[in-house]
Amino acid sequence: MEPLFMKPTYKDYIWGGTRLKEVFEKDSPFEITAESWEISTNDAGLSTVKNLNGMTLKELFDDKEKREEIFGIKTKDMERFPLLIKFIDAKDNLSVQVHPDDEYASQYENDTGKTEMWYVMDCDEEASIICGMKETVKQEEIAEIIRRGNIRNNLKQVPIHKGDVIYIPSGTVHAILKDTLICEIQQNSNLTYRVYDWDRIGKDGKPRQLHIEKAIDVIKQDTKYSITSTNHQEEVSKNVIDGDYFKVDSVKIKSTYQSKSNKESFEAYMVVEGNGIIKTNSKEYEIRVGDSFIVPANLGEYEIKGELKLLKAYL
Ligand SMILES: [Zn+2]
Repeated sequence: MEPLFMKPTYKDYIWGGTRLKEVFEKDSPFEITAESWEISTNDAGLSTVKNLNGMTLKELFDDKEKREEIFGIKTKDMERFPLLIKFIDAKDNLSVQVHPDDEYASQYENDTGKTEMWYVMDCDEEASIICGMKETVKQEEIAEIIRRGNIRNNLKQVPIHKGDVIYIPSGTVHAILKDTLICEIQQNSNLTYRVYDWDRIGKDGKPRQLHIEKAIDVIKQDTKYSITSTNHQEEVSKNVIDGDYFKVDSVKIKSTYQSKSNKESFEAYMVVEGNGIIKTNSKEYEIRVGDSFIVPANLGEYEIKGELKLLKAYL
């Protein structure tokens, strides 16, 4: 099977911007586009496969006869497609939030937890993120701080730069802040507990709902979050995340990258810089920044050419 080129669905959340349309030439119907859900089988926003006549990725994954060939041996017994991959254009701050782990999510929400990763595709010089609470905060103080409405002064704010990779395990309180363009790779779950929303009013004129008690249940002070840069990467392909739920390589191509599909797992690619082509045994396709595609487990050998940078996510 050939690479699967994805068509996303879009979200017009209040904090979004216009770069997904202007920079990535996305066909979003919204004036303000916050997110494009590029690779998603989540019912909250299904993506479709352009070169399979708009079949949803979910329909393709649910075809158990073809699943192993296309998505790889590791997906054989999975109840759902394991990942959810988005581009996010934060013109304004996102809410301060936390996601539960698998254990909490299955017990209370009949869902999976959410560990996520961000790659900074672009940001302002002054841009930062929120990642965890300040080191002086003790786990047993967190509930009190949040209930007193004092979380804002106890968050850890960290500067970020283009090319940074930020790993956010479930339980880490976090927020993407304004003027940041991000590629997000996460577990396939839409469970978010909002703990602070900048005293902002939603589209309906009311503050958006917070989930204080659930957030208190799941926020942990000791998660292993990390921030690393890919800017000085010398090798063409470098593993940047080797997590429990997904692995991610940064692939920086100056002329040609040769590879072979992986029988164990599909490979989800997102072009984060530049443009080029992907060439299989039978065809070649143009790719550019903002595109995403899946290399099926049974594709065989392929080449990516051009001057571009991609993220490759796999199991
Ligand atoms: Zn999140």
